[in-house]
Amino acid sequence: MKLEICHLYPDVLNLYGDNGNLLCLQKRLSWRGMDSAVTRVPIGETVDFTQFDLFFIGGGQDFEQEVLLSDLSRGKATEIKSAIADGKTFLTICGGYQMLGRSYTTWDGVRCDFIGAIDYETKGAKDRMIGNFAFHCGPESGGSVVAGFENHSGKTYLGPGVQPLGTVLSGSGNNGEDGTEGVRHLNVFGTYSHGPVLPKNPEFADAILRAALERKSPGLALDPIDDTLEHQAHDYMLKRLGL
Ligand code: GLN
Repeated sequence: MKLEICHLYPDVLNLYGDNGNLLCLQKRLSWRGMDSAVTRVPIGETVDFTQFDLFFIGGGQDFEQEVLLSDLSRGKATEIKSAIADGKTFLTICGGYQMLGRSYTTWDGVRCDFIGAIDYETKGAKDRMIGNFAFHCGPESGGSVVAGFENHSGKTYLGPGVQPLGTVLSGSGNNGEDGTEGVRHLNVFGTYSHGPVLPKNPEFADAILRAALERKSPGLALDPIDDTLEHQAHDYMLKRLGL
C-alpha cells in the first residue's frame, strides 16, 4: 500500500513549518509499514490530479494568495474541485483553507475570488487573530481536542449547512464570533491551525490518514502507535491555555 500525496503550492503557501504536517503523516504511515510519496506541485506546473490520494495546502500571506489566483484559473481550480467531489482527502491550513472557499476580501479591500469548492467566504479584519488556540473536533473528524496556533486576519463564515471541523475551546477559530473552527466537507479537513498542527495532535493526524486510506483500501486498519511524547507536547500546550 502506497499513499500518493500532493503538496500543492509549496513555493508560496509555506508558513510556520506547515509542511511538517507532511513529515508527520509520512512518518505515521512508515511506522505502520506503509509507504508514501510526496509530489510537489508549484505555481505553473500541471500534473494529473487523479493519481493522488491526499492533498496538502499550507498557509500564506495575503500577497501570495493574490499571486496564485491566475494559476488557479488556468485549470487547477477545476482539478481541485473534481478531486474533492471524488472524495479525495485534503488537509488545508489557513490561507490554503480560505482558498477552497468562495472568496477572501483582505482588510485593505483586495478581493480574491477563490475556487468556491465549499460554501464559505472570508473577510479580512484589521486586528489579526494570533496565538495558541484549541478546538474540539466533531466525531466525524476523530473527536479529539486539537492544540494549535493561529495567525490570520481573515474571518471565515461558513454557508448554511456547511459543517465546521470543530468547536473552539480557546482562541478565535473561524471568526472569533460563532465558536466554529475550520471546515469538514466530504474528505476535506480545513483548519486555521498552523504549528505544524499534526505532530502534537496524533489523533487528528490519524483521522486524516483514515479518511485517505478508507478510500484507497477500504477496511485497512491503522495499528496503534506509542504516542507518549506527542501527548506530552499536546497536554503541555493545553495546560498553557488553561484547559
Ligand atoms: N493571509 C491570510 C489571513 O491573514 C491567511 C494567513 C495564514 O495563512 N496564516 O487571513
